[in-house]
Amino acid sequence: MARRYCPVCKKVVEEKLIKEGKRVTKVCPECGHVFISYEIGKGIIESGGGNKFEERTVLK
Ligand SMILES: [Zn+2]
Repeated sequence: MARRYCPVCKKVVEEKLIKEGKRVTKVCPECGHVFISYEIGKGIIESGGGNKFEERTVLK
């Protein structure tokens, strides 16, 4: 686990790792903001900050 600054919560949080098969997503544990999402062997799908890709999975 690593600590990251969440731009939504505006504070440093412990990033949460979600693994779905080959896909790895790192999110904010408090608001669900996606820091980075990537597929093993394929590369980055979504990186935090910009909203070029809205390919996030909302787990609610
Ligand atoms: Zn957050």
